[in-house]
Amino acid sequence: MAKLGRELRTQGIDIVDLSLGEPDFDTPQHIKDAAKKAIDDNWSHYTPVAGYLDLRESVCRKLERDNGLVYTPQQIIVSTGAKQSIANVVLSVIDDDDEVIIPTPYWVSYSEIAKFARAKVVFINTKPETGFKLTPAQLDAAITDKTKLFIFSSPCNPTGAVYTKNELEELAKVFQKHPGIFIISDEIYEYINFAHDNGGGHQSIAQFDYLRDRVIVVNGLSKGFAMTGWRLGYIAATLEIAKACEKIQGQFTSGTNSIAQRAAITALDSSLSSTYEMVKQFKERKQRVMELLKGFPALKYTEPDGAFYIFPEVKSYFGKKAGDEIINNASDLCMYLLNVSHVSTVTGDAFGEPDCIRISFANNMENIEEGFNRIKKGLSLIS
Ligand code: PMP
Repeated sequence: MAKLGRELRTQGIDIVDLSLGEPDFDTPQHIKDAAKKAIDDNWSHYTPVAGYLDLRESVCRKLERDNGLVYTPQQIIVSTGAKQSIANVVLSVIDDDDEVIIPTPYWVSYSEIAKFARAKVVFINTKPETGFKLTPAQLDAAITDKTKLFIFSSPCNPTGAVYTKNELEELAKVFQKHPGIFIISDEIYEYINFAHDNGGGHQSIAQFDYLRDRVIVVNGLSKGFAMTGWRLGYIAATLEIAKACEKIQGQFTSGTNSIAQRAAITALDSSLSSTYEMVKQFKERKQRVMELLKGFPALKYTEPDGAFYIFPEVKSYFGKKAGDEIINNASDLCMYLLNVSHVSTVTGDAFGEPDCIRISFANNMENIEEGFNRIKKGLSLIS
């Protein structure tokens, strides 16, 4: 959608982009300064496959400081974005026909990477009624003796759902009964959590000791530090998994970019004030979006606790007409909103939930207001 939106924009059409999957903020100055210094200091050679040792030490400090998780640097592998981290892990643990459980809605690359590794993907549907969260009973029912891996994100892209400690513990107890299952805990949206200042905040499923050897924590700098283009992600896992990922990465890409790694040390070791300033703005936008949504009684949605998306169910529009066109599904609705209302959003199909669309609030308040006004007008023409 972002690409189609760009094409329309080159034709001179003013498109409001509510499809963005990345912070609209710039990388904080102190991180950029660290990168500039790294260039001047000639950090220009190949890097260790696993990442610079002092960066892996920074990651360990971060995991202990923010998550209460203790790892050694040998258990950390730094990659070219969390996406590569996930691919490394999946390729490390999956054999042909192993089953990978993914709760829907999910970030699209989970299933594609699993299929690439020749896994059988098993989806578990979650719905707005349960806050788009998986229940222990659903998980229990989906596990078979072929289940090898479970992949989820909290906060979740695209729903913004955030699992509480209790909810994670209930899922952890199910996994406790099945010792052969690995768990990828994608925590890339960790900091973009609207409960931080109410004593809530991020919880990792790696905190339960009895699961520790099977959880692979995936995180990175893309979202929390507004560094999507720098391509810096990492895992924390057992030595065995870490070594396997290092081996794979050594053949695919080698160690990731040297300048991004030096900048990442500064990002992880510095005060998080710029991150929290960004999150404050996301929270204000979310609150405004929740107000704006009151003007959309036909949409069903849950309030996001994290990330920067709202994921409303739009199926009440399916089968209805907009001019000569029939809106058959969420993709038709997104195309209609793009072509007629000039707002880009993303169809839920991309996330395994064909009844919903994803609307991003990684855009300034003015564009959010304008985008929602346009969507409202566009939807009012569907009958
Ligand atoms: N996980 C989720 C849930 C994401 O939304 C994204 C980025 N869209 C990633 C992982 C990948 O992040 P990175 O930029 O670090 O590859």
